[in-house]
Amino acid sequence: MWSTLSDDGDVTGGGAVNPLGSWADPADVPMRENLRTGTAYGAPQLDEPLRLNTNESPYPPSPALVDDIVERVRAAATALHRYPDREATALRTDLAGYLGRFTGAAVSPANIWPANGSSEILQQLLLVFGGHGRRALGFSPSYSMYRIVAEHLSTEWIEIPCAADFSLNTADAEAAIARHRPDIVFLTAPHSPGGSHTTVDEIERIVRVTPGIVVVDEAYGEFSAAPSAIELIDRFPTKVVVTRTLSKAFGVAGARVGYLVAAPAILDAVRLIRLPYHLSTVNQATARAALAHSEEVLGNIAAVVRERERVRTALGDLGFEVFGSAGNFLLFGRFTDAPRAWVYFLDHNVLIRDVGTPHHLRVTIGTAAENDRFLEVCASFSGRSGG
Ligand SMILES: *Cc1c(COP(=O)(O)O)cnc(C)c1O
Repeated sequence: MWSTLSDDGDVTGGGAVNPLGSWADPADVPMRENLRTGTAYGAPQLDEPLRLNTNESPYPPSPALVDDIVERVRAAATALHRYPDREATALRTDLAGYLGRFTGAAVSPANIWPANGSSEILQQLLLVFGGHGRRALGFSPSYSMYRIVAEHLSTEWIEIPCAADFSLNTADAEAAIARHRPDIVFLTAPHSPGGSHTTVDEIERIVRVTPGIVVVDEAYGEFSAAPSAIELIDRFPTKVVVTRTLSKAFGVAGARVGYLVAAPAILDAVRLIRLPYHLSTVNQATARAALAHSEEVLGNIAAVVRERERVRTALGDLGFEVFGSAGNFLLFGRFTDAPRAWVYFLDHNVLIRDVGTPHHLRVTIGTAAENDRFLEVCASFSGRSGG
């Protein structure tokens, strides 16, 4: 019997139409052996009224931003017979200006490299620094793509457990790094799913013991008041890479734009493996429009942070365990059976995230009305079962 993996990892097949002829058994596909046991990236994409599972912004682009995107894409469309600017120079200049204003970091376009989401950046970094015979080290639980991409590229994957409160234990990390001597270390600051923040001093300790590079994933950096690790690049130019994205705080996840900040020599290494013209003219134009509206976006961040603290308090009042978060999400529990609790929320039309830890679930902070509805379901859950 045949089946196929849809992009969210669900096994489908029975009702699907295959006009190209017979269905083949996946076991007969002559793929690389290390992919056979793999699973596809899989946050469920379900059409629920409340989608609080992938940490996007709850605010759609404002009418002014939509107009600006349309105008810039219209202008860009007149030149779509040509390949995009391979160096994305105008976008990199805008990103440098944004980072200077927002983080205070003195970065130039020569320090910034954009791609199709920071996920593509992670893949590019592993193409340069990972591969057969090399080791990547990360924390668990954490963003699943570090491990998935490392394994795709036959990079040995080493996982360090997070502390009991889901924060990164710097001393454990230092000891593990000294033992395993990884070529690439993935840190997430603020960390997901727990939401803890790792300070620049702690990151520096990890950088000092790492023989290879340290990738500091600041996907949620804008939600945190703590300084960016960008300041470490000057002192450790061959060892520190910071990745960021427009998918979370900037509210344009659909545009697929992320970037890295690093020394120019790191960018030169990435240029060796990037596909030609990897970032489309339309993506570049859309990202530039979003950056031109950064003031507006920053206003939304304050609202999300206020709501995060309100939801956190309310969850605690309802008797849930909840961890302090520097991101736009909260990890909460302590469920007897997290996958079953996840289904309870889904049955009440609230899609949250089962991050694979046995007793906790993660919720993205939504609008005030969405959070109210989420908290109602939380109240009914705790009333029903006592947690
Ligand atoms: C969402 C997320 C990303 C990336 O996303 P892109 O949309 O590919 O930029 C990267 N790292 C972490 C920890 C994330 O949560």
